[in-house]
Amino acid sequence: MPELPEVEGVVRSLAPVARGREIRNVKVSETVVNSKAAGKEAIVKGLSVDKFSEELAGYTIEAVTRRSKYIYFHLIKNDTCRLLVSHLGMTGAWFVVNAITEIREQKFRNHIHAIFELEDGGLLVYSDIRRFGELRLLTCEQDHLPLTLMAPEPFDADAEEFFIEKTNQDKYTKKPIKEVIMDGQIISGCGNIYATEALFRMRIHPKRATGRISRERKQQLFREIVTVLDESIQAGGSSISDYRNINGEAGSMQDRLQMYGRKVCPICGSNTASIQIANRTSTYCKKCQH
Ligand SMILES: [Zn+2]
Repeated sequence: MPELPEVEGVVRSLAPVARGREIRNVKVSETVVNSKAAGKEAIVKGLSVDKFSEELAGYTIEAVTRRSKYIYFHLIKNDTCRLLVSHLGMTGAWFVVNAITEIREQKFRNHIHAIFELEDGGLLVYSDIRRFGELRLLTCEQDHLPLTLMAPEPFDADAEEFFIEKTNQDKYTKKPIKEVIMDGQIISGCGNIYATEALFRMRIHPKRATGRISRERKQQLFREIVTVLDESIQAGGSSISDYRNINGEAGSMQDRLQMYGRKVCPICGSNTASIQIANRTSTYCKKCQH
């Protein structure tokens, strides 16, 4: 699943090619249309497919930004603003092309669920193999409650203190630290990959109760998470399973991960262990992490 660095990579490559372009028309796949007709909220959330397409026509993409693991398309038509929010789910990918054939990998071509036809003839394409992604057209962030509950961006000055205060709350002190740092209301954008890495670097056991970690160690852990996220942004994100940057590019952070997806601990050489925490597989070293 794409985490903050992967989404940042998408936004950095998408923003310069999407900015300033006007949406003429939006076509949504038959799979999504049928699934919506059957009462499922597939990909297009909160609006009917017709309404979604109708509402978007004529808007210009003013900016593309990231907030946590979401992509925000800031749209404007005359003086009216809209916010198109995209979550990539497991396998969402964006492409900006002149023709669908320019999308090199067939599996992405086979799972296109929205095509934004642009006024200049270009195409902004959303592909999603497993269809866990979301497209949500809003007036502003406040229209969708989960967006307003997100922790500050981890790089913001107030994020560390926010994290410390949250982790001191009773409802979190008994929870495993791994579950807490993967919670977007405590830190934004840290999922399984980077939580696993930061805990390994800190030699903290993923199941350790949050309340049993000192304030100082929690501060160090927070800073380690920020460091790992930043390193991954510099490396273009991790290319795990079907994650791709815009236009099919892949990052290289996966080569630098020391614990996520590893069979052997790079410090002590023993086999790594796995446990389930918050429905995700956590890899760790029994000898090195306490
Ligand atoms: Zn070890």
